[in-house]
Amino acid sequence: MSKCVIIGGGPAGMNAALYLKRAGIEAIIIEKDMLGGEMLKTNKIENYLGFSEITGGDLALRMSRQIKDLGVTIIKDKVLKVTFNDKFEVQMEKESINCDYVIVATGRTPRKLNLAGEDGLLNRGISYCAVCDGAFYRGLDVAIVGGGDSALTEALYLSDLCNKVYVFVRKDLRANEILQSRVKNKDNIVVMKNVQVTKLGYGEKLSNVILDNGDSIALSGLFVAIGGVPELNFLHDLDIDMKNGYIKTNDRMESSIKGLYAVGDVRYKNFYQIITAASDGAVAALSIKEDD
Ligand SMILES: Cc1cc2nc3c(=O)[nH]c(=O)nc-3n(C[C@H](O)[C@H](O)[C@H](O)COP(=O)(O)OP(=O)(O)OC[C@H]3O[C@@H](n4cnc5c(N)ncnc54)[C@H](O)[C@@H]3O)c2cc1C
Repeated sequence: MSKCVIIGGGPAGMNAALYLKRAGIEAIIIEKDMLGGEMLKTNKIENYLGFSEITGGDLALRMSRQIKDLGVTIIKDKVLKVTFNDKFEVQMEKESINCDYVIVATGRTPRKLNLAGEDGLLNRGISYCAVCDGAFYRGLDVAIVGGGDSALTEALYLSDLCNKVYVFVRKDLRANEILQSRVKNKDNIVVMKNVQVTKLGYGEKLSNVILDNGDSIALSGLFVAIGGVPELNFLHDLDIDMKNGYIKTNDRMESSIKGLYAVGDVRYKNFYQIITAASDGAVAALSIKEDD
């Protein structure tokens, strides 16, 4: 039986595993944290077909149960390197696996503001996940940086916990109309357009931010929601075609390396959603089955 290692257990990786297993190909998911990926960072999902509304945690749990029930092998470890010599070798922190195919489904890591003090203030005022850290700022004034769907979803979530939520947007909001109108109806969300955070004020913790218009705003928490970038150091030994830091694929999800596929948020494409990630996973698995 051919063997495929899927690196990353978000919706893209889990759906790839589902389709591979049903096609009779051995599927092994390697996940460094918990199955679910970025879904675990969102409290409310309203655009995944079949569920009018579901929490990210619930959707992740349903997906992971489904693939576990099918008998997909899941290894909790971090992939450090992938090499190719006759077969692929996937090296993790604790072990190595040889396989016929690799599907890269590692998503993206949050993009930083790159401001002085940002790294040191992690968990002391700076966060990249409102659902994970919002409760630490209950009753306090916080801000979100970003104007997309994720930023406004996080602002709405924080508005139920925090005293006041600023939204700092570089230009204008890009989020969908439903989210924008919900934000407008919240008394404690203040959207500030055409502003950028230029400086963090802090002692032990974050105390305020300075904007490029000169305003200083007192804050206990700053949530950064300006997208992400793939972290693909583990592919350094392979000469893969990339675009803007993302893996380039064809319509079958094949990269420039034969036998290596990329799916979900790690792939260069237009739309980064749960349903598109899941779809990519299915396409990669069916393409592998076709070639096998
Ligand atoms: C706050 C927020 C709200 C969102 N809301 C929605 C929404 O309402 N609707 C929607 O459709 N989309 C939403 N999204 C986007 C959606 O979550 C992503 O598009 C989707 O999860 C991408 O799936 P993925 O499987 O490609 O990657 P991910 O979900 O990022 O999963 C990648 C997995 O790979 C693992 N991994 C990474 N590197 C390694 C390694 N070296 N070794 C082993 N494992 C590794 C990670 O731990 C992670 O579990 C939201 C995103 C955020 C941040």
